[in-house]
Amino acid sequence: MKDIAIVGGGPAGALCGERLASRGFNVTIFDERLAWEKPCGGGLTHKAIEAYPFLLDAAQPKKIVRVAELISAGGHRARFEMSHPIVIYARKVLNGLLLDRAAAAGCRIQRSRVTNVDTAGDPVRLTAGGEQQRSDFVVLAAGARNQLLPETTALGAMDLEVTLGYFVPTQEDIIKVKFLKEFEGYLWSFPRADHLSVGICAKLGQNPTQQLRTHLDEFVREEGIRMDGAHFFSHVLPSPEAATIRSRRIVGKNWAMAGDAAACVDPVTGEGLYYALRSGDLLAQALIDAQPQTYPERLRSAFSADLEFAANIARRIFRGNFLGGAITTRMVQLLNHSPAFRELIRDIFSGSQNYRGLKGRLWDQVGVTVLEFTRSLLYPRGIFGTGSQARREPQP
Ligand SMILES: Cc1cc2nc3c(=O)[nH]c(=O)nc-3n(C[C@H](O)[C@H](O)[C@H](O)COP(=O)(O)OP(=O)(O)OC[C@H]3O[C@@H](n4cnc5c(N)ncnc54)[C@H](O)[C@@H]3O)c2cc1C
Repeated sequence: MKDIAIVGGGPAGALCGERLASRGFNVTIFDERLAWEKPCGGGLTHKAIEAYPFLLDAAQPKKIVRVAELISAGGHRARFEMSHPIVIYARKVLNGLLLDRAAAAGCRIQRSRVTNVDTAGDPVRLTAGGEQQRSDFVVLAAGARNQLLPETTALGAMDLEVTLGYFVPTQEDIIKVKFLKEFEGYLWSFPRADHLSVGICAKLGQNPTQQLRTHLDEFVREEGIRMDGAHFFSHVLPSPEAATIRSRRIVGKNWAMAGDAAACVDPVTGEGLYYALRSGDLLAQALIDAQPQTYPERLRSAFSADLEFAANIARRIFRGNFLGGAITTRMVQLLNHSPAFRELIRDIFSGSQNYRGLKGRLWDQVGVTVLEFTRSLLYPRGIFGTGSQARREPQP
C-alpha cells in the first residue's frame, strides 16, 4: 500500500498524513475547507503536549492557561491552578499548523469535497470535487458529521452531543466550566489568544435547542461577557456510548477511520483533539507496519479502554448524587474544602489523570477526602478550610 488518500485535514487526518508521508508513502489529503475556524474550545491538555511537544514550541499564537474555575448549578465557585497548563489554539491556527507540517513532510493537499468512497474494488475509488481518484487505502478523518461509511454504521443520537456557542472578541485568562441541574453536559468559557470560545454541550435530543440557548445566554450574562462582535456557532461532537467504543467497526481491508469519525472523544469532557491526533498517529503506525488490522488493538491499549470506562460513568457524574447532593455540586464543595480532592481535580483538568487510574486513586483517597470535607464543614475556619478561594456552599 503506497498511495493513501485521506479525507479530512483536521488534526486526525493531518497528523496521519504527516507521519505517512515522512515514511515515504504517497499521501493526498482532501479537505473541503482546509484550515478553518471549526467550532471548538481549542484546548490541548498535558497529554497532548507531552506526546506532541511542537504544539507548545510552535511560534503560532496560542493562549497558555493555568487557572480554571468550576461553577456548581447553584452558582458556587471553586478556582484552582491546574497541575499543568492547558494550551488553547484558535482552530484555524491549529489546523493550519498541522496542515503545513503535513505539506512539509510531502503530502499533497487538495481543497475539495469528497462525495463518494467505494472500497469494494481494488484500488479504492473516491470522488473528490467531482473527479475520480484512486488509492490503495483510504483514511476517513472527516469529523463527527462524516457520511462516508464503508462497511460500518453511522454514530447514533446516543453517541453524539450538540454544542452551541459564541466566539467573542474579548480577553480572559481563566477557563470556566459550569454545571447545570440534572443535565448531561456543561457550559464553558475558554480564552484564546485574541478571543473567547463560550459554549454549551449536551447529549443530542435530551434538551430543546431553545433551552440550551437560554442556558448559554444566562451564563454569558452571569459571567459579564461583553458580546460586541460575537459570532454564533453550532456543531455536533461525538460522545460515544461504551458499546460503540467497544464494538463499532473502524477498519476494513482498505479503509480505516480516525478522530471524531471513529468516535475518539472523551465522553465526559468532550476532549477530542488529543484523541484525534493520537488515533491518526496510531493508524499511520499500523500502516507503516503493514498491519492496518491491528489499529483497533493499538487504540484500545493507548486510550479506548479508558474512554469506555469513562462512558460507563459519564451519566452518573452529571446526574448522580453523593451525600445527598448532585455529584457536580459536591465536586465544587470538595474542591474548596479538601486538599486531596483539589490535587485530584488539578490533575484531571490538566489531562494527567486517566479514568482507570482514577478508580484506584479515589479508592485510596476517598476516605481521607470525605473526612476532610466533613471536618471542614463542622469547623469551617479550621485547618481544613484554608483552600477555599471562593464563596462557600450552604451546608448540606
Ligand atoms: C464546540 C466544540 C468544542 C470542543 N472543544 C474541544 C476542546 O476544547 N478540546 C478538545 O480536545 N476537543 C474539543 N472538541 C472536540 C474537537 O473539536 C474534535 O474532537 C476534533 O476536531 C476532531 O478532529 P478530527 O480531525 O477528527 O475532525 P475535524 O477537526 O472535524 O476535521 C475534519 C475535517 O474534515 C473535513 N471534511 C469533512 N467532510 C469532508 C468531505 N466530505 N470531504 C472533504 N473534507 C471533509 C472538514 O472540513 C474538516 O476540516 C470540541 C468540539 C466541539 C464541537
